[in-house]
Amino acid sequence: MTSMTTLRTTQLLIGGAWVDAQDGATYADRNPATGAPLANVAAASRSDVERAIAAARHAFDTGVWTKIPPAKRARILTKIAQLLAERASEIAELEVADNGKPIWVAKGEVNALIETFEFYAGAVTKLYGRTIPGPTSAYLTYTLKEPVGVVGAIVPWNFPLLLASWKVAPALAAGCTMVLKPAPSTPLTAIELGKIALEAGLPEGVLNIVTGPNPETGKAIVQSPLVDKISFTGSTATGAWIAAEAAKSIKRVTLELGGKSPSVVFDDADVDAAVAAALYGIFYNAGQTCEARSRVLVQERVYDAFLEKFAAKAAKLVVGNPMEKTTHVGAITLPEQFAKIERYVAQGKAEARLVMGGERASVAGCDGGDFFAPTVFEADPRATIAREEIFGPVAVVTRFSSDDEAVALANDSDYGLAASVWTKDIGRAGRIAGRIRSGTVAINTPFSVFPGVPFGGYKQSGYGRELGIEALDLYTETKAIVTYVGEKAVDVFRV
Ligand code: NAD
Repeated sequence: MTSMTTLRTTQLLIGGAWVDAQDGATYADRNPATGAPLANVAAASRSDVERAIAAARHAFDTGVWTKIPPAKRARILTKIAQLLAERASEIAELEVADNGKPIWVAKGEVNALIETFEFYAGAVTKLYGRTIPGPTSAYLTYTLKEPVGVVGAIVPWNFPLLLASWKVAPALAAGCTMVLKPAPSTPLTAIELGKIALEAGLPEGVLNIVTGPNPETGKAIVQSPLVDKISFTGSTATGAWIAAEAAKSIKRVTLELGGKSPSVVFDDADVDAAVAAALYGIFYNAGQTCEARSRVLVQERVYDAFLEKFAAKAAKLVVGNPMEKTTHVGAITLPEQFAKIERYVAQGKAEARLVMGGERASVAGCDGGDFFAPTVFEADPRATIAREEIFGPVAVVTRFSSDDEAVALANDSDYGLAASVWTKDIGRAGRIAGRIRSGTVAINTPFSVFPGVPFGGYKQSGYGRELGIEALDLYTETKAIVTYVGEKAVDVFRV
């Protein structure tokens, strides 16, 4: 691997200063592709987290960020994007070392996060309120968009810096201050973002970063009375705990949770295009993707041809060293995630037909890493592997006969994050898209996530949205200003 794998020691970002945890504690971060130690990461105690929150609170309450004119704040966000672009290769390599994803995936993510900062830089000067027709012409009524306050941003390990940027960029654009908590296993690129933000001119205390080896770090953020909003991406189970805990102090909450998203392939589709996209939909990022199209629903007339082509192409995917350009499927990021995939695959072998894969893959030069072979099952929609989120390179293919059955199967899930529809009939595509209960429906394309497009879940995939103007709205409060401009005083009691 590269020089990025040399052991580094990281610190916490609190009030504009890089500091060790107060008790000096650290924990080990490993490279998932090799198992080699990568970094000693500062392990924040509850009191460290509280200091970071206090710094964010102080920065918000003293207005160090919002008193900067909007155009200048926009330039700081643009500068962050520029610095990310200058260091794109370095950051992508660091993400690969920390997460195990293929280098081309990490490079694509860095591009996407640059575009995310650029998108929200443009939004800073467009936080418009509205004027509202008053009860009479003696009223001038309008709304202001104000920042929601201190945001606790908690992110998972599958897209460490990209998902952090989905929170940091709109929250800063709205004028919030923050405490960012990366996942324990993938903290390194978030720390680089902190350095870049300071270099770009973000005032002290506006962005604070805390790291820790276990859920206690995130819990301390969720339970703090000084935090106004939690923006969380992660599992549905953790999201449910956060929603309940945040309710105690009526914190605003955005939850981006799990998924079991379908690709729905109709018999009039371009089958080759659908095969290529369905392959990407589940094996991209080794299936460790919240919007992975882990269920592949195929209409009966094209079912056999589709499955044959899909399995043949899946067999050609290269499971390999993440730093190699030719690698399609990289490492599984966490040993416990690997064990979870193995458990589901064992269950799949008992309840469904294994078409291909279904076992550990070995990769030369990466003996200490965990890799899983692209796996395809044919399964009944009631099978556990067709219902629960596996979060690995495991596709479950199911047959359907009619449009109604396709919609019923697509919706037969606790989740509702995303779906893909494949048909050449644009009317059919529109009708089906309207009936699928998910936050995103992609029609005849594998790509549906862009900075300007709201992203989020129906049902147990969460609530609120990331990206787009919708995310910006969720980092703001709306203040109504009701102004009386009439000549005669308002004297209701007339006493
Ligand atoms: P996780 O819920 O275990 O952890 C996510 C983050 O929450 C981590 O930073 C973790 O340290 C922290 N955390 C854990 N317990 C906490 C608690 N009690 N209070 C506060 N913080 C806590 O999830 P994960 O395993 O890291 O990520 C995988 C999950 O994330 C999958 O279910 C996946 O679908 C989901 N995900 C969703 C999206 C989306 O946008 N919808 C995107 C990526 C991942």
